[in-house]
Amino acid sequence: MDSFDPNRVSVRSAHFIGGQYVEGEGALDVARPSDGVFYAALPVADAAVVDRAVEDAWRAFKTSDWTRRAPRERARVMRRWAELIEADVAALAPLEALGSTRPVADAARWDIPFTAEGIRFYSEFADRVGGEVAATRPDHLGMTIAEPYGVIAAISPWNFPLVMASWKIAPALAAGNAVVLKPSELTPFSVLRLAELAIEAGIPPGIFNVVQGDGRTTGDALCRHPKISKVTFTGSTQTGAAIMAACAQSGTKPVTLELGGKSPQLVFADAPDLDRVARRVAAAIAGNAGQVCVAGSRLMVERSAAPRLIDGIASAFAALKPGKTWSPGTTLPPIISAPQLQRIDGIVRRTLDSGAQAAAGGARIELDGDGAFYAPTILTGVTPASEAVREEIFGPVLTVQTFDDDDEALALAAHEKYGLAAGVHTADLSRALRMMRGIEAGTVWINRYGRTADFVIPTGGYKQSGIGKDLGRQAFEANLRFKSVLIDLTDGA
Ligand code: NAD
Repeated sequence: MDSFDPNRVSVRSAHFIGGQYVEGEGALDVARPSDGVFYAALPVADAAVVDRAVEDAWRAFKTSDWTRRAPRERARVMRRWAELIEADVAALAPLEALGSTRPVADAARWDIPFTAEGIRFYSEFADRVGGEVAATRPDHLGMTIAEPYGVIAAISPWNFPLVMASWKIAPALAAGNAVVLKPSELTPFSVLRLAELAIEAGIPPGIFNVVQGDGRTTGDALCRHPKISKVTFTGSTQTGAAIMAACAQSGTKPVTLELGGKSPQLVFADAPDLDRVARRVAAAIAGNAGQVCVAGSRLMVERSAAPRLIDGIASAFAALKPGKTWSPGTTLPPIISAPQLQRIDGIVRRTLDSGAQAAAGGARIELDGDGAFYAPTILTGVTPASEAVREEIFGPVLTVQTFDDDDEALALAAHEKYGLAAGVHTADLSRALRMMRGIEAGTVWINRYGRTADFVIPTGGYKQSGIGKDLGRQAFEANLRFKSVLIDLTDGA
């Protein structure tokens, strides 16, 4: 599927609570980033609606057979859910593409199969982690028993609406919890279809719920609800801090936070095939128009390789095709919203005004309609103090700094605030490993950039890029709490 008619996609604008759609009040206008057209009004769940969703989830957690059925049975239902999601690609891909930045071809080929496979991956953990027998003194038997938390609040961002939500929901459900999800108010609809399919697959009503609304009203009420046992969040560092504060003030709930980044890509002059590296560096910042948490937004290149590498990146940028998410062949999708487009342009302008140069881009792209498009941009002549180097831009903007030796490369790569991911490109194995050790980031890619479909590798940030992990065994275990049991075997002996 590589195109669709946006005016023929209908959305259901509602909450999904206790296994059914619930109409709501309040009306946030939701726009299509590809052409600026408002296409729906979103209800905003206030504290009363959030309470209803959490109470339903709590009841389902306590009374349905989700936690009480054999874990293998839970796994079977989740596999069925994954199959239904894959089979629904013709409906889900346009729904995902309509209001987001995901070109429909990418949504169909990548986001939806990846969402389904992630659910399958976590289903396989359902009966693999139950706890363990401890090596206690011989006259006692000690155990740790893994138990679900209860109701988990999941709050997700707009950049990959289905995938990001599934990274939260799948491990939580596989571990036996109930979930109340609040998707981003900018991309709220595709997850509703996931919730419908969950019911069809046999997940009991109330175990997976969706409440719609903004962060200030709905997200905050969800985090503060006394029956929420844990919050798992993906979004900006600023919001992560607000969520931590809300959790601290309302019952010291544990949090998993996947936050912002400003990830470096280090290229050494010995890297094999610099032209290929240039294409890789370009893809790492232009993919999804830079709206990726792990976007490789800061290039550090060994001085002698800089001219050729910058030329190669500029050529790769020039080959991108800006377009609407429903147009065939789009490889440079829109920016999520007009305010975000303005923010990107403002940071670029101010960085240029402070002495940087644009080796590519540096301006908006005009297409038909009021879509929000920005040209992939290369900024040279920047310093660690430049705004474009310090701030997460969340757009297709790459800053370039040069270095002369390993120590300088490492010093430039370190960011005062973020530590989400990094890439190292070199033919020298020892140097690659020294860099890997020296870089303070949750993920380091060597001679590649970006994730594969290896769900087993966790993702998460150091420093202010986050707390805890999505993906991997770690994310499953983070949805369990461990009860210690000690039995005295001497009684009655
Ligand atoms: P955001 O922080 O603005 O919003 C994320 C979600 O939080 C939304 O659903 C929003 O409604 C909600 N929210 C906002 N204020 C809230 C509050 N006070 N209480 C509760 N919920 C609240 O982020 P965004 O603009 O949607 O996403 C972009 C950001 O997400 C970037 O910083 C990006 O780096 C980050 N991100 C990180 C990862 C990762 O894995 N580390 C992945 C994707 C995106």
